[in-house]
Amino acid sequence: MAAIGQEYCGLCGRNTGPYERRDGRCGECREQRVPLSGLVRVGAHKGLLRRMVLDFKFRRGPIDRTLGRLMVAALQGTPWHRQLDAVVPVPLHWFRRLERGHHPTRALAKVVGSALRLPVVEVLRRTRYDRPQVGLSRPQRLENVRGSFAVVRGARLEGVTVCVIDDVTTTGATLAETARTLRKAGVAHIYAAVIAKGESTQTA
Ligand SMILES: [Zn+2]
Repeated sequence: MAAIGQEYCGLCGRNTGPYERRDGRCGECREQRVPLSGLVRVGAHKGLLRRMVLDFKFRRGPIDRTLGRLMVAALQGTPWHRQLDAVVPVPLHWFRRLERGHHPTRALAKVVGSALRLPVVEVLRRTRYDRPQVGLSRPQRLENVRGSFAVVRGARLEGVTVCVIDDVTTTGATLAETARTLRKAGVAHIYAAVIAKGESTQTA
């Protein structure tokens, strides 16, 4: 997978050299069980893209469409985007939504859904207000997010293929937990699309 010139792992999104990947995945992802079938990203979480994501998290505006279109372009470069039945935004806790007055992943999902003609299904909800993931290791993050999502009552997801939409991934713990939750609800294949992949030492 390549976007904005940089090669990356098709499961966790981290930068890789061409010889580090086998079947599109890095050594780390080959060793551990990643519950995703694939991941696409716009770029690394640095420089201009990082600033755009920061703006986007806190302000609604034309930047939603810009980042959404970049995500659409990244998705269109994958062999799997035609298999998708729906897009699922990572939910924001209601407290954060009130605080910000903006739901970034929903805004992204709407742009992607309308460009790819896919329904946006908000089938995930947060079960609690997590403590921030900043400064935690991957095992700590996995522990921190465990059980923090649930599928909304009445959602029919058996056998479908979905793409989870998030703005930034660092260790992938949040995406892994959403995938685990969706899998339990019967979803057949779970892909993910993010704007940016951060290094584990970065915030966000
Ligand atoms: Zn990887």
